[in-house]
Amino acid sequence: MSDISKKSLTEIVKLIKKKEIKSEELTKSYIKNINSDKKLNSFITTCSEEALRKAKDFDKKPIFDTLLPGIPIAVKDLFCTRDVRTTAGSKMLENFVPNYESTITNNLWNEGAFLLGKLNCDEYAMGSSNETSYFGNVMNPIAENTVPGGSSGGSASALAAGLTPTTIGTDTGGSIRQPASFTGTVGLKPTYGLCSRWGIVAFASSLDQAGPMTKTVSDCALMLQAMVSFDKKDSTSINKKKENYSTSLTNNIKGLKIGIPKEYRVDGMSKEIDKLWENGKKILKDSGAEIIDISLPNTKYALPTYYIVAPAEASSNLARYDGVKYGFRSNKGNDLIEMYENTRSEGFGDEVKRRILIGTYVLSSGYYDAYYIKAQKVRQMIKNDFDQAFKNVDAILTPSTPSSAFKIGEKKNDPISMYLNDIFTVPINLAGIPAISIPAGSDINNYPLGMQLICKPLDEQKLLNIAYAAEKKINFKQSLNRWWEK
Ligand code: GLN
Repeated sequence: MSDISKKSLTEIVKLIKKKEIKSEELTKSYIKNINSDKKLNSFITTCSEEALRKAKDFDKKPIFDTLLPGIPIAVKDLFCTRDVRTTAGSKMLENFVPNYESTITNNLWNEGAFLLGKLNCDEYAMGSSNETSYFGNVMNPIAENTVPGGSSGGSASALAAGLTPTTIGTDTGGSIRQPASFTGTVGLKPTYGLCSRWGIVAFASSLDQAGPMTKTVSDCALMLQAMVSFDKKDSTSINKKKENYSTSLTNNIKGLKIGIPKEYRVDGMSKEIDKLWENGKKILKDSGAEIIDISLPNTKYALPTYYIVAPAEASSNLARYDGVKYGFRSNKGNDLIEMYENTRSEGFGDEVKRRILIGTYVLSSGYYDAYYIKAQKVRQMIKNDFDQAFKNVDAILTPSTPSSAFKIGEKKNDPISMYLNDIFTVPINLAGIPAISIPAGSDINNYPLGMQLICKPLDEQKLLNIAYAAEKKINFKQSLNRWWEK
């Protein structure tokens, strides 16, 4: 691997601005890494030629006063990219080429970046291991045959392996934070509404948020800054003054109050996770923060609530894939109804079908009140727990996931154990608040473990500052032997 792709995004941007490296050289080194990969399967589509052309264009007329000057970036294949195939990891969209660009990717390109490729993900972002992708599973660079997490598994894998300097994912119930935790990288799910959802293939619209996945907290601040904008095309977009997360970043967190929710200590959680959490508390305390025990009493309802709300919204969002307007159409069937049925049976994978069935059921008359309405009420209670907690604390510290990366195939046929992976991340999406996962240590196998910090809505700067302070003290180092190139 070339040395340059070991560097953080922040360092690379500096080198470009100081004219110590050209965009072409940088882009070539990532393309080389992408081409040397034989096993990860993190890319669905590569855009090497076009990326090199953009890099050369940049070098001819460089503009340095942007956030991401001349930086090639691969993105989760859930973001629509103009004239570049966007699959959402599904057979349904295998040949779908959008004629528009998502607001988020557009914002990155406006800051000087360009597209390096589209990254593998669980089908329609439904999954926690990247095993539901129609384009095959992805491996975690930490060890052969381990999952990178999901649904932004390709993003996490490519980032950790040095196949892209930074990336973006989406998080509906943990899909940025859990893969970040599994791969030793940083992932942030912003406040609902901070990043535009326009042009992102929808899964569960009241929960979906795009966010940065990076090597370091500084990179994360830089990327978030590039991503955020008010967008009239997304009716839930928040209209607020743009913040300068990157230059405002500080590790001075003296006097901040950090809450430790007792409900996040679940049965069967490994000692290593407990130890990691204890260590996290100690580190924040050493940085001058005050640790306070808190309670989020409705935490236990978060997972069942999520698995009603998310499938309900998914069943409605995915109704549009009928073989008429988008993507795949089955050529079997004698009439329109049969064409619809065959298209959906052949075009969707099992997990997506499971969600559509559950979602349709909980929205059907007779069950709507008992399941969907009830789940909405419980969702409000979960949100109230956080509102209550944030009256007394600035942030909350929890583990990101109940385990480290598991083996490919280990949970694939056991949806409940797969869903349990999201136990610490889904409450945050239900409440619409921001959270970040940073690498905090390793387990006995030397697999990374993440810790999660949570703040109140629009407190991303504080969240980043606390993460930054913790990152400095943790000093996490990952050494990968690049087995995927052999
Ligand atoms: N793993 C969760 C699910 O399958 C979350 C996915 C996501 O955040 N997109 O629903």
